Amino acid sequence: MAVIGIDLGTTNSLGCVYRNGKTELIPNAYGSYLTPSVVSMTEDGKLIVGQPAKDRLITHPERTVSSFKKDMGTGRSWKPGEKSFLPEELSSLVIRSIVEDAQNYLGEEIEEAVISVPAYFHDEQRVVVKRAGALAGIHVERIVNEPSAAALASYFTANEEQNMLVFDFGGGTLDVSVVDCFENVISINAISGNNHLGGTDFDRAMAEYFCFKNGLNYYLLDLPFQQSILRACEQAKIKLSTQSVAEVSLVHLNKNYNCIFDENVLFNTTHSLLESCKNVIGKAVKDSGFSASELDSLILVGGSSKMPVLQHYLSDALNIPVLKEENMDSLVTLGLGKY
Ligand code: AMP
Repeated sequence: MAVIGIDLGTTNSLGCVYRNGKTELIPNAYGSYLTPSVVSMTEDGKLIVGQPAKDRLITHPERTVSSFKKDMGTGRSWKPGEKSFLPEELSSLVIRSIVEDAQNYLGEEIEEAVISVPAYFHDEQRVVVKRAGALAGIHVERIVNEPSAAALASYFTANEEQNMLVFDFGGGTLDVSVVDCFENVISINAISGNNHLGGTDFDRAMAEYFCFKNGLNYYLLDLPFQQSILRACEQAKIKLSTQSVAEVSLVHLNKNYNCIFDENVLFNTTHSLLESCKNVIGKAVKDSGFSASELDSLILVGGSSKMPVLQHYLSDALNIPVLKEENMDSLVTLGLGKY
């Protein structure tokens, strides 16, 4: 019976299986490897998970919840409808969705999984993640630290002793770890992070700039228009990882609103966010006891690490080679397969 790996992310989750000597990512029902960690409840009480739930963030924001992983083990509950849910209950729905995709993909029952969690998760939070697995009907065989999994994926490529900085930048969180890999032993020397810094902050900074350029005040707009602007800015931000210019163009109440973004504009609008990223790295390096010159590489992980503006900024600011793995948003998952 196959054991699957699940990278339960704050923004997106992924599943993988280790077969024929390699890690395979598992596509979901929509043909994508990324399943948004979003849950929505319809008016008649039906729960929707993943991409269709993410789409409802715009149409039904009050019935849709996201980023609940951050509250794992805090006792906070969320109410996407008439009923309240704990983060582990919401996470169990995401896990269940990935397990079902895996069963369809592999054509067999899945009863066990290895799940990755941030290195800073304490014991109680790890127990809560196991409970989320149990609620989804699976046994969590092992909990693995995300930076260790990412380092393992990268280390096996490099195959030599390395001191690495793992920079995991997702939608709403930044986790930086100093990881030492030697003879198949991966140890985490220091961790640092910011639970309120991620890709959505870049979207918001772009949205504020878009509004400024169009004579609007972002904070005075109605929620659906704010969400449309955010979504359009996120798309432009993603385009800027493969092209030099991206336009945001929206129509609202029969009026046209436009704004052009390029790396320079993005740099100026998000400079304080970039600086915050650098400061989190600085703290991890300081706490590790290593000097920057003793670190071999910076491994970029997570969807937000794909931003060229960030890569250029970090390359200029740090004196360490910045490794751009091809699969930044699946590096943790690819490492998970090796456990
Ligand atoms: P993750 O939590 O690792 O799935 O990362 C999700 C975040 O990555 C979201 O804020 C996305 O907007 C962002 N993201 C995904 N792909 C890209 C890309 N190509 N360029 C910039 N940001 C991206």
